[in-house]
Amino acid sequence: MKLGQFLRPLDTSFSTPSAARKLLRLLSGALLLCLLCSLAFALSMAFNHEVSIRRREMNAAMYEAQLYFSQHEALLENLARGLVPVAARTAGAELPAWPDEPRAPILLPLPGAVQALLLFHRDLAELREKRLGLLHVMPGAAPQVSRLNEAGQPESPLPGAVLQALARATSGQPGIRWLSDAGDPLGRLFLFTRLDTGWLGLEIRGDDLDAALRTPAAGDYLLLDGRHRVAFAAAPGADARALRSLWDSDNFDFIGIGPIPLQVALLKHLGGSNWALVYQQGVGQLLAALWLPILLAAVLAMVAGLLLQRLGRRIDHRLIRPAQQRLAALLESEAFSRAVIRAAPVALCVLRRADASVVLENPQAEQWLDAGQVIPRHASRWITQAFAGDGGAACEELAVDGGRHLYLSYTPTRYKGEDVLFCAFSDISTRKQAEAELSRAKQLADAANAAKTLFLATMSHEIRTPLYGVLGTLELLGRTTLDQQQTGYLQVIQRSSATLLQLISDVLDVSKIEAGQLVLEPVEFSPLELTEEVVQSFAGAARAKGLQLLCCIDPQLPLRVSGDAARIRQILNNLLSNALKFTDNGRVLVRVRQDAEEGRRLRLSWQVIDSGIGIAAEQQGHLFEPFYQVGGSARQAGGTGLGLSICQRLTQLMHGRLRVVSDLGLGSSFTLGLSLERVAALVPAPLLEAAPVLVISPMRELGEALCGWIVRWGARARLATPQLLAEADAECVLVEVRLHDAAAQPVARWPGCRVVLSAEGHLQPALQGCDWLVGLHSLEALSRALCLAQGCHGGGAPRERPPGAVRDLDGLRVLVVEDNQINQLILRDQLEALGCQVELAGNGLEGLQRWRAERFDVVLTDLNMPHMDGYRLATELRLRGCHQPIIGATANAMREERERCLAAGMDDCLLKPVDLDSLYCCLAAAKEIS
Ligand code: ADP
Repeated sequence: MKLGQFLRPLDTSFSTPSAARKLLRLLSGALLLCLLCSLAFALSMAFNHEVSIRRREMNAAMYEAQLYFSQHEALLENLARGLVPVAARTAGAELPAWPDEPRAPILLPLPGAVQALLLFHRDLAELREKRLGLLHVMPGAAPQVSRLNEAGQPESPLPGAVLQALARATSGQPGIRWLSDAGDPLGRLFLFTRLDTGWLGLEIRGDDLDAALRTPAAGDYLLLDGRHRVAFAAAPGADARALRSLWDSDNFDFIGIGPIPLQVALLKHLGGSNWALVYQQGVGQLLAALWLPILLAAVLAMVAGLLLQRLGRRIDHRLIRPAQQRLAALLESEAFSRAVIRAAPVALCVLRRADASVVLENPQAEQWLDAGQVIPRHASRWITQAFAGDGGAACEELAVDGGRHLYLSYTPTRYKGEDVLFCAFSDISTRKQAEAELSRAKQLADAANAAKTLFLATMSHEIRTPLYGVLGTLELLGRTTLDQQQTGYLQVIQRSSATLLQLISDVLDVSKIEAGQLVLEPVEFSPLELTEEVVQSFAGAARAKGLQLLCCIDPQLPLRVSGDAARIRQILNNLLSNALKFTDNGRVLVRVRQDAEEGRRLRLSWQVIDSGIGIAAEQQGHLFEPFYQVGGSARQAGGTGLGLSICQRLTQLMHGRLRVVSDLGLGSSFTLGLSLERVAALVPAPLLEAAPVLVISPMRELGEALCGWIVRWGARARLATPQLLAEADAECVLVEVRLHDAAAQPVARWPGCRVVLSAEGHLQPALQGCDWLVGLHSLEALSRALCLAQGCHGGGAPRERPPGAVRDLDGLRVLVVEDNQINQLILRDQLEALGCQVELAGNGLEGLQRWRAERFDVVLTDLNMPHMDGYRLATELRLRGCHQPIIGATANAMREERERCLAAGMDDCLLKPVDLDSLYCCLAAAKEIS
């Protein structure tokens, strides 16, 4: 088995935390074992050391014992050598003792023999000192035992066993016999040496022998006879059987039962005898001597065991258990992932980078990918692209057999130790189908929209052309002499036609907005002039209804701003028209303010407040829906319900806000808020003298606004108070606002000039007595009146309406190219009314010929004509070097129309029906160009 295979776990349980736990236990066990071994080793060293100490002690005791016995043997042999023969005559007789002289030898006659033992005193003294008895034994049937000295234990007879042993001893055996009797109560040891006649022996007392052999440090002694029996022992009842193994050689060894050592013993044979002396000690004694190291080792082992156990628990708690939990979570998450992959409504597969084979796939992948046909076709390309890129996910769409469309996203990753490509396919067949249907629907919608646009253009043209005829003719009719009744009818027809035109314009506006045809046309304008013009245009209607129409204009208003003035005017017209329409008494106030300034952009707000019928809260939310009208009052008042909807859409186009606040029965307030760009304009020089001006107004807000404007023009204006009025001198001008308010009585006596503002006033200040009378709705008129009142005559001419400028166009030669005869007539009459000289042409070709023949100042041409249309005519004229203004006229309200006209070389485009005002403005501008 290779190492790699060996290391790779075949059994997954190897890689589980429980295996780690087992390993940890194994390691801690091994560690503990090592520690125990070390302790055992240390203990064994200590034990061996102790054993060697004991052995030394035993050897020392053994040496002493051997010395003891060899001395006794040597003594006995020495005494035996003192055996001397004696004369026959003395045989059997009592030998006389030697004279009592210490140095003289003593001759001890031996019984029954002719021998005597020659002793010296020192021998006897030694025997006495060592308490050894000297014996002579004549063995035989009746053994004769003679005690040769007083030492020993003369009162005790020689044990029978000893006598028998002496009797049995063969005569040829040399050496000293060691004898004892186990039954001897005195426990004596006898050493005998053979003499010619009998035996000479030493009697060693039991207690002396015990004292000589007993050495506590060497342990207990055993004196064994030649037959391995215990002759003497330190303790009674000792057994020598276990010592047999030591018998053959003098040895030191452990003795025990089987391998268990119980004792240590040292055995040595003594002198020339076959007796042996043993010193032995129990192993327990040795161990007892080692109690401290053993205790220390035990404590150390216990502590180490405890520490290892605690360490193991801690590691288990801190590492293994969390790892186990993590692994469990991992396994759970893997199982979950597998379940997700299996159940996912997308096809998932993993491709091996090396050979592009499928490593893993879910049932959807098997099902969707043409039973494995798709992967071999594309896998290599995907792998190349994915691994060549930056490692991010890539995606593509592919169509598989069966009309299924798949969206594939793939990303390189690693799985089971190799580079793989993870691919996810989602079925986008339904989406593709929906997309196709959507695209079809869009094409249809585009076609429908195009048809609608065409319809719009056509309708616009078709409706406006006859209307143009009607309105133009009515306008011209009004200029002829009519009786009162005819004039009344004419006015009714004109009003109805105007309403019809308004309705058509509204519908066209809505259609244009919906078709995205309406674009803003920003121009520079004066918000003050625009507001006043709108208000002035409703002054008559307000007067007719008996309503007060007031206009409070913020004196901080900028001179000029940039924005789509026409659309703002349209909104204001609508709001004011509604306010007047839905108010039966009271007043309508128009308030214009500059709310904020952000760099070059200004936030302006126009507020139209009325005291009319008001709108219920629940209906306010629907106000801006097309064709929505509130209840019956709206019906009675007329209208289409399109006005506010158009206002709202226009406001949104201008990124503004249109808000309504209303209370049923109390009135309404509509506020148009717009952000417009300030345009730099020359600040006019002060119009007025810096003289005092007092302002009286029944409405404080209006009075303050007027004061503000008068101050802006250079005078020192203040709101009038009774005291100021009383103190005023002739230099002071009084501005008095009269609203037909019963409460506001005109000031009876005034020393100086007065300017009276009232609804009846006009744009041109009129002198009434000593008062200057002007209209309410023109600040310019007020400034002029003030100027006149202050005695200066520098007030410029008032802004004039077109009729005043008719003379400007006098003699202007206009070529009108128009195929419709009614329109030809109307245009001719209108132009002639403006003082122009008119030539008519029926189509473009005719127009071209007329232009070649004569010189004209302006060419006014219809656009859609037979033979040569207006665009061609303009192009041809420009090609022929015509520099005069060319103006197109069309009833088509489409945005492109104007752009097309300009592209063809025209200077402007008029939208039919053309009223005199528009015609004048357009021609006046054209005249300036020419
Ligand atoms: P129209 O005025 O042509 O009916 P609008 O869209 O301008 O259409 O107004 C929608 C409805 O909102 C009106 O019919 C009227 O009921 C209500 N409305 C608009 N302005 C006011 C107002 N100032 N006071 C009361 N009701 C108003």
